[in-house]
Amino acid sequence: MIFIATGHYPESPGDGNNKPLGLIEHFEVKKIVRETCNYLKLLDISFKKVPIGNLQSKVNFINTNSSKGDICIEIHLNKFDSNANYMAGLYYSNYGKKISSYIGKSLLNFLPFEKYISFKPNRSLYFLKRTSIPAVIIEPLFCDNIIMANYLLNKRSHIIIGKALAIGLKKGL
Ligand SMILES: [Zn+2]
Repeated sequence: MIFIATGHYPESPGDGNNKPLGLIEHFEVKKIVRETCNYLKLLDISFKKVPIGNLQSKVNFINTNSSKGDICIEIHLNKFDSNANYMAGLYYSNYGKKISSYIGKSLLNFLPFEKYISFKPNRSLYFLKRTSIPAVIIEPLFCDNIIMANYLLNKRSHIIIGKALAIGLKKGL
């Protein structure tokens, strides 16, 4: 079972805002998560969408509903330094590392950006540390980079990112 969580929530929509373009992290991530779920259904992979809420409620939901062999993934489109032109991911365990690398390859395949991806272990972030199953945080792009933000204005971009995430997950399982 894959748990899919949406970064942030409406009352606190994240720091990846690109206001000139009208993009707000949480609401863009929500569209990506919806498309990822649609594609996972097509691939016949079982998943659970984590109800939107604060970090604690998301982690509680995952820990209450998880069993052995599950993984969880949270999607973000954070702000970085306005020049970041890559995709990033953070993981906690070796299994998380493996899943990240498949997701990374898939994103590189489908997204029209510089061919660079950064995946790093992280043992301090709440989502990674407190979940009882392997956890991964993925930033398919950075919301404050103008090229990447423009890409998000294209309605099809969420479908393509969702497809890339679902295919990467399938290969990594
Ligand atoms: Zn975020």
